[in-house]
Amino acid sequence: MALIVHKYGGTSMGSTERIRNVAKRVAKWARAGHQMVVVPSAMSGETNRLLGLAKELSPSRPADAYHRELDALAATGEQASSALLAIALQAEGMPSVSYAGWQVAIKTNSAHTKARIESIDDSKVRADLQAGKVVIITGFQGVDEGGNITTLGRGGSDTSAVAIAAALKAHECLIYTDVDGVYTTDPRVVPEARRLHTVSFEEMLEMASMGSKVLQIRSVEFAGKYKVPLRVLSSFTEWDIDINEEAKSGTLISFEEDENMEQAIVSGIAFNRDEAKISVLGVPDTPGIAYQILGAVADANIEVDVIIQNISKEGKTDFSFTVHRNDYAKAIDLLKTQVLPKLGAQEVTGDAKICKVSIVGIGMRSHVGIASKMFRVLSEEGINIQMISTSEIKTSVVIDEKYMELAVRALHKAFDLDQIPADSARQS
Ligand code: ASP
Ligand code: MG
Repeated sequence: MALIVHKYGGTSMGSTERIRNVAKRVAKWARAGHQMVVVPSAMSGETNRLLGLAKELSPSRPADAYHRELDALAATGEQASSALLAIALQAEGMPSVSYAGWQVAIKTNSAHTKARIESIDDSKVRADLQAGKVVIITGFQGVDEGGNITTLGRGGSDTSAVAIAAALKAHECLIYTDVDGVYTTDPRVVPEARRLHTVSFEEMLEMASMGSKVLQIRSVEFAGKYKVPLRVLSSFTEWDIDINEEAKSGTLISFEEDENMEQAIVSGIAFNRDEAKISVLGVPDTPGIAYQILGAVADANIEVDVIIQNISKEGKTDFSFTVHRNDYAKAIDLLKTQVLPKLGAQEVTGDAKICKVSIVGIGMRSHVGIASKMFRVLSEEGINIQMISTSEIKTSVVIDEKYMELAVRALHKAFDLDQIPADSARQS
């Protein structure tokens, strides 16, 4: 008997029929002797619907007070789906109780719409599990010190599930979703993309952070930090498939780099069109400049991704970085009104029509020439590279958004990701 956390995405919770299927699946796991905690997303489309209503009423640039209400609003989506799942489980003859984040409580900081989990009180949940109940906990949300409802950012239910699994020291956290695992790239862009049987936590972190969209990045960070074994699998299999087969399906995000893992040099191509590029031009090349620019941006709670500073000419340099597209206008405004006057820089420019494409693989640590092969492939397609950034296990380029699919397809092919590897232990 093990303590297992299941997380179901919005599509899996998309109708009463699907919720009933989730309930049957969860009941199967509970009847097999496991203690079950389930974290559902809102029914698909519901979060967008709710946020759309708010936008209708407040189309202008919103203030903090507005973000507090957005959270109170958006959190209802998960509250509804959680209660519905508990009802469906009870209808299956399985005792079940649902809790909103604040009832558990899942404590977060006060950064509305992108709060971070600080602590989870597991006492209520454990008591219910002891009493033989399936416990449903709303994804996506928590409560701050002042008792305000917070949310963890879009896709945040993944993070809720992993954090809950960590707090409960769960045996495994299974993320049921509308794809059957983690692929070499998005199959909607490259139909030849293949499912990875296992992927290392570090690769997954790079893939999630670069928008491979399977898992919210914070959930992967959490899983890494607390060593939560994580599996991504399909919720569209028959609910009554053999539980042992089900437990082995999908993609396991693993923490040990076994020998097979070293086989593929590049494991996946990630891409992201959620970013925008900002350049501060004609910045004096003196100590403290990066801090003055990026410090102001960080203080405004805006995350920065790729950063580039050019070598200086006549004591001046250009400084470029990318931010999430949602933060683009805010960042430009901040730089123009607060940073530019102080710096004596010449100009702030930006481009929201960019995308980032990355090759990811732990094999890159021990192989040379991988980045240059990437650049060659892009040049053969006539794609101009605007920014480059690298880490031990990835190389990313920022390019014009309109070449994204072309770049991803060309790279997927060039790195043989559409081929079944000789040792197929890693991929299936
Ligand atoms: N319902 C929220 C969203 O759509 C959270 C989630 O599904 O993970 O972003
Ligand atoms: Mg999701």
